[in-house]
Amino acid sequence: MDMSRLSDLRTAEVAPVRHLIDGASCGASDGAEMDVISPLDGRVLTTMAKGTRDDATRAVAAARAAFEDRRWAGRAPAERKKVLLKWADLIEANALDLAVLGVRDNGTEIGMALKAEPLSAAATIRYYAEAIDKIAGEVAPTADGILGLVHREPAGVVAAIVPWNFPLMIGAWKLGPALAAGCSVVLKPAETASLTLVRIAELALDAGLPPGVLNVVCGEGAVVGDALAHSMDVDVLVFTGSGPTGRRLLEASARSNMKRVYLELGGKSPNVVFADAPDLREAAKVSAAGIFRNAGQVCVAGSRVLVERSIDEEFTTLLAEVAQGMKVGDPLDPATNAGAVNSLRQLQQNLAFVEEARGQGRTVLGGRRIHEDTGGYYMEPTIVTGVDPSDRIAQEEVFGPVLAVMPFDTEEEAVALANGTDFGLAAAVWTSDLSRAHRMVRRIRAGVVHVNTYGGTDLTVPLGGVKQSGNGHDKSLHAFDKYLDLKTAWIKLEP
Ligand code: NAD
Repeated sequence: MDMSRLSDLRTAEVAPVRHLIDGASCGASDGAEMDVISPLDGRVLTTMAKGTRDDATRAVAAARAAFEDRRWAGRAPAERKKVLLKWADLIEANALDLAVLGVRDNGTEIGMALKAEPLSAAATIRYYAEAIDKIAGEVAPTADGILGLVHREPAGVVAAIVPWNFPLMIGAWKLGPALAAGCSVVLKPAETASLTLVRIAELALDAGLPPGVLNVVCGEGAVVGDALAHSMDVDVLVFTGSGPTGRRLLEASARSNMKRVYLELGGKSPNVVFADAPDLREAAKVSAAGIFRNAGQVCVAGSRVLVERSIDEEFTTLLAEVAQGMKVGDPLDPATNAGAVNSLRQLQQNLAFVEEARGQGRTVLGGRRIHEDTGGYYMEPTIVTGVDPSDRIAQEEVFGPVLAVMPFDTEEEAVALANGTDFGLAAAVWTSDLSRAHRMVRRIRAGVVHVNTYGGTDLTVPLGGVKQSGNGHDKSLHAFDKYLDLKTAWIKLEP
């Protein structure tokens, strides 16, 4: 990729961001706007439409009309595929512009942003586009005289509420399968990461997606998101974000039309290091990346290291070496390992967790705001040791570059610690003992358990949590289950 345009793109003016409803760009119904603050320098990057409940209602109506007249759902899957493949190509062709725009909006380091954002979104859309014309219904094994058919039909109007840490990647995990399935969508980006999602929705129109099939409403979660969650006309609500918001969405569903709600709610993922790990230095390097990249703002971040006591000191020292060697700062410098924290609020939340741990007498390495002179929101990679499993820092998602380290003595204790939170999204085990690896995979309650690595994944495998990390799965062909309904046709045959 030609990175020479990076310096122009980093200062390029960003036009005010507006909703995309029924194929048209528009402002809020009452004309309200909100500032978009860049976490790189704390300055106003642009303004954005501050959506109203009416805007959300109008977008749902547009999505409903598009769904009911079958302008998209009624097309042959192979035709939908063509449009979606073109869309993926357009996203890829604009990858650098999208990545830099996204970094200026949300702070992710550019090396990661390029791969994890536009390129990952393009790959995801392609994956579901390629899959949709290979999915068929079933003929049921009924008695003679009956034909039982099982159709797979688009589920209807989908509302997708997505977070700020990887807006394009997570957005595409919802949009790819939903649109390929033939659903219509209203997308609500996070307040602090909307710019690139609006841009790719415009590219979808250029690719030939009919107006009204994909709508984007910007603004506050408590207004736009809440209106979508309470809508009587949304069939499926998919969400990635925090537990408290997830809980509200379930309540909203119960209070409205009982729409199906699929949640991905983050975690407090355990990274279990046994003394017989194949290579402790490598384990430290990968574990540090697993919590400190993107300033820790990763739903599957390995935020708890559980380490066998005999190597506790050695491993913590290795972790500290890696952490201190990381380059934290300007996310548009390709040499940066960890960029900015997304917002001042998130930075303050991270620092408060660390202060609380300090107050409890825990040992903190790092833990400070840095590069404050830039006006940006940067934080040192932080390692907290001497943590008690009941500490808030060991139980709650910080969503920042903060790692809690706890020792264990036995495999039994490691399992108990690993499972000792409300979450169950991701985990890892480092060991040379094959049987132990398999035992741990079975016993740790999580959607994914890595062995001798952390965080590796691709589109072919599902991502989803257990316990209070959520329900339903993004990625893989299983993601279609949320967007394709089963319908039975029971046909009596004349003898
Ligand atoms: P959040 O859950 O409030 O926001 C996520 C999305 O939900 C955003 O689009 C937001 O606008 C929307 N939203 C907020 N309130 C809503 C409501 N009442 N109804 C409908 N939609 C609503 O998360 P946040 O405030 O951005 O971050 C808070 C914490 O959430 C973080 O510190 C972190 O722990 C967690 N988080 C997790 C993930 C993840 O990938 N699992 C992503 C972002 C945040």
